[in-house]
Amino acid sequence: MKTSAEQVQIDEAGKVYRRLWSYSGAYRAVFAAAILAMAVYAGSQTGFVYITKLVTDQSFVEKDMQFIRWVPFMILGVFFIRGIADYVATYSMSWVGRQVIKRMREQVFAKFLALPTRFYDQSSSGALLSRLTFNIEQVAQAASQVLTTLFKDLLTIVGLVIYMFWVSPRLSLFVLVVGPLIGLIIRGLSKRFRRYSTRIQNSMGDVTQAAEQVLEAHKVVKVFNGEAQEIEGFERVNEKNRRLNMKLAAAKAASGPIIQLMAAIGLSSVVFVATREDLSGGMSVGEFVSFVGAMLLIMAPLKHLTNINGPLQQGIAAGQSIFELLDAPGEDEGGARRVERARGELEFRDVSFLYQEEKGAVLRDIQLHVAPGERLAIVGRSGSGKSTLVSLIPRFYDPTAGAVLLDGHDLREYRRDDLRRQVSLVSQDVKLFDDTIRANIAYGAMRDASAEEIEQAARAAHVLEFTERFPDGLETQVGDRGVTLSGGQRQRVAIARALLKNAPVLILDEATSALDTESERHIQQALEVLMQNRTTLVIAHRLSTIENADRIVVMDHGRIVEMGSHAELMARDGAYSALHRMQFAGEAGHRADA
Ligand code: ADP
Ligand code: MG
Repeated sequence: MKTSAEQVQIDEAGKVYRRLWSYSGAYRAVFAAAILAMAVYAGSQTGFVYITKLVTDQSFVEKDMQFIRWVPFMILGVFFIRGIADYVATYSMSWVGRQVIKRMREQVFAKFLALPTRFYDQSSSGALLSRLTFNIEQVAQAASQVLTTLFKDLLTIVGLVIYMFWVSPRLSLFVLVVGPLIGLIIRGLSKRFRRYSTRIQNSMGDVTQAAEQVLEAHKVVKVFNGEAQEIEGFERVNEKNRRLNMKLAAAKAASGPIIQLMAAIGLSSVVFVATREDLSGGMSVGEFVSFVGAMLLIMAPLKHLTNINGPLQQGIAAGQSIFELLDAPGEDEGGARRVERARGELEFRDVSFLYQEEKGAVLRDIQLHVAPGERLAIVGRSGSGKSTLVSLIPRFYDPTAGAVLLDGHDLREYRRDDLRRQVSLVSQDVKLFDDTIRANIAYGAMRDASAEEIEQAARAAHVLEFTERFPDGLETQVGDRGVTLSGGQRQRVAIARALLKNAPVLILDEATSALDTESERHIQQALEVLMQNRTTLVIAHRLSTIENADRIVVMDHGRIVEMGSHAELMARDGAYSALHRMQFAGEAGHRADA
């Protein structure tokens, strides 16, 4: 009886394999060719055995000279056919496998782009990447291995068994009883091996640990005269390791002779039965020789068949992990509302947000109205929720409660693409793509921008200032395979990108915090250009950079605690002026250090 857990597992396996099978849909013809070739291969094995019988009987026993002349050609012919079949089978299976791998990679990559931000938060990119590379490879390999075994090996076994029964039904029945018995004994033996091997590994760990402890705590050992004690302790694990290794050595040394003895018992019992006409029903020399040959040829495919569970399970696990990813819900497409260019009026209405239930609210009851064209600064200690607040605007996340509105409409009403066209983002850590500086500026939807527009943006963002010194100018390759730009230079490329996009809403999330004061002043000019004629939310680390914002919002623990102009907030002598004092003291301190 199968337990229900086993049943569930089998159902799952079936699902995974059915779904994998659906991938091979377009390639069924090639697949059929592979199966056909496998059948031919299996047939050639039986054919070879049959030739052995003919050769022995006709040439050695009957000395049929006419026949003998043909024997070399027959052998060549069979191996020729077998070789071609093997090639076609292997090639076609790999061809189908590679097509399936490519299709799956395509889908997984597309899924990477479609996943909501929350998904990336919850999974490591290493794990996601290994699905794309390792797991897909694994599932395709397991599937083709299982299919090959299922067809090639199984058909070979069937062909040879039929041949054996054709030659001598009685002897075949005998083999069918004795064979599995010998197989079981050999299996038990190799299991023992594996057990010793793991135990040896563990005891090797004990040896290392004992030594490591002494190396690390050598001062303690010396001061407390612990040498004798340590030597004693080491002797124990050392001896245990030796004993285990000897057990393995004994098992290994015995296994060769035992397996050979087993084979000899099997073979001699077959010979015994075969040579007793009353038991075997009589056989020719050729029949006997080819019978033994068939027995030997069956070994390898039989071994493959009995070991198929490993790759089968591996394939199922790998397949499940891929399909789980493919089935993960993608980002919300948004509503039907279209917008060409928004005015840029933003409103946070009773917005609360949490990343994870256990960690509690990150934003609490945020009420905030930003007029079109306003320059709003957001300040507060790190972790107070500033980045989270602005990440709601391009809908990286949706509020847990309340709503964010653009031009009076909930963000969720807009088509997602339209909404994102309204927002530019420059953040602290600029990641450039593996391409030219020009392509990095004219990225995504702006990739068809004219050379003039790109250069204009590059000039305004002070990018040309440094690219002019490169021999290739804007065509200089950056990223992994190109030059490395400094943090400030990358920042300027990102600003040029935002300038070119020319969106009505601009978010600067600590866009200059990684820079020294000197470079920041430089970039500040580029930012001034960028902030004109649009609603801007600036999160700034250095308060000196936001003093002339229209309004400053101070956040603490996910709440807005103060709001007003620099002068108003300074006069109030609250959270903002405290932050200001702290920073001024810090900077004065730095200056004194220098
Ligand atoms: P700030 O930008 O003001 O430094 P954040 O908005 O980045 O603050 O973070 C606010 C809080 O939310 C912090 O406690 C932070 O640990 C947490 N947080 C930020 N991003 C994530 C995330 N992706 N998943 C879970 N928690 C997060
Ligand atoms: Mg932040």
